[in-house]
Amino acid sequence: MVQTVFKLFSLIGFILKPLTIIQTKGSAQVSKIQGLKGRRVWDSRGCPTVEVDVILENGVRGRAIAPAGASRGAREALDLRDGGDSLRGKDVQTALNGIQTRIAPALIGINAQDQRGVDVAILALDNSELKEQLGGNATVAASLAVLHAAAADNGIPLWRHIANYFQSTPSIPLPEIQIFGGGAHAGRRVDIQDFMIMVPGATSFDEVMEITSEVYFAAGDLMKRKGRLAGVADEGGWWPVFDSNEEALETLVAAIKLAGEQPGERVVISLDIAASEFGKNGQYRLALEDRAMDSGQLIDMLGRWIDDYFIASIEDPVGEDDPEAMQEFQRRYGDQVQVVGDDYLVTNANLVKTAARENACNALLVKVNQAGTVTEAVDAFHAASEAGWQSIVSARSGETEDASISHLSTGLGSGQLKVGSFTRSERMVKWNECLRIQDEEDAPQFVGGLPLKNTWWGKKI
Ligand code: PEP
Ligand code: MG
Repeated sequence: MVQTVFKLFSLIGFILKPLTIIQTKGSAQVSKIQGLKGRRVWDSRGCPTVEVDVILENGVRGRAIAPAGASRGAREALDLRDGGDSLRGKDVQTALNGIQTRIAPALIGINAQDQRGVDVAILALDNSELKEQLGGNATVAASLAVLHAAAADNGIPLWRHIANYFQSTPSIPLPEIQIFGGGAHAGRRVDIQDFMIMVPGATSFDEVMEITSEVYFAAGDLMKRKGRLAGVADEGGWWPVFDSNEEALETLVAAIKLAGEQPGERVVISLDIAASEFGKNGQYRLALEDRAMDSGQLIDMLGRWIDDYFIASIEDPVGEDDPEAMQEFQRRYGDQVQVVGDDYLVTNANLVKTAARENACNALLVKVNQAGTVTEAVDAFHAASEAGWQSIVSARSGETEDASISHLSTGLGSGQLKVGSFTRSERMVKWNECLRIQDEEDAPQFVGGLPLKNTWWGKKI
């Protein structure tokens, strides 16, 4: 009897085994991680940062570099620095040590194709709220390097791997490009951080580049005529030698016209107010104009700017600690402009869900290093999409030759990409990467002005 049962099991096993083999062969590829190496490299501000190389057992490699913000959200993953006297306290030896002694041992043997599994393994090493033990700079470089290795192992471009893995529809994004820098990126010469343009009326990514180039140099010519040309700020936008924040807006409108464009037609203005940099507890101070205001007055001022200066998108209009004001801004202007949460949401899915419930924004800025891993950033992106919001994948003010975000924006089909201005190679490498992607076989379509369809610009066409 025992023998008969045993024979029956063997027979079932004999029948099932080939099926199992077929199943394994048909399932996702396994690309085991053999090792990780962290090293110190230098960013666009000359500060140390973390680079990670990942090597798979079959010899395939991936590499990524952590960027660094200057106007950072209080709730974003910690950018771990050594402190002390050397390198102004900005060295990253502690973060590198964590990669060698903790992240590498935890990832060795894991399948690089399983990005979520990789990121969960990283997260399990540091249960602090802001990744204070490992540092978001260490975790983001490791997480992105694995993503690169997995794409390389599949023999496909990174954007395609992202689209496949996260099951998204890829598209070439609409750029948001800085013309004047400000705030923390320009020694606080003006209070507002980013004076940018978008070209939703362009029919191709190339056309966006051309029109932006014309506007950028027209703005430079205007600064020269006024005797105010004084180099560039951290992200490559012109240094903001203005007597008021509004003068920057007037000059930007004049530059768009000088470039032969009619503001509000093909070209619109986008601002990052980065209000947490000049306000706390609902009280704000524009240092340039020596003007104090409360949340209501700030909102009124921005509302007037929307009407007067062809603005279609405003990021962090009020402080990250001012949720009622954020809701008020969205209530008053959310059907006219894109209301973007950066410091306010720090690429965190839970904060996005709360803000969506409270109707506090209608768009998310996605910065992978604010979250600390690729998976967490994509979760925040998905939360924004589920809320019916737009998303803008973004660089940081401290950047490098790493162009991962061009692929992330394209692969996820985020619709918009913000990388700073139109000079300096740590910026241009990201725009140029989009140009290369659009030349690939099976390249996705340029998304055009679609992301701004719910703004006054989209409604008028
Ligand atoms: C931003 O605030 O959108 C930005 C890119 O600046 P930073 O990287 O300094 O936070
Ligand atoms: Mg911002």
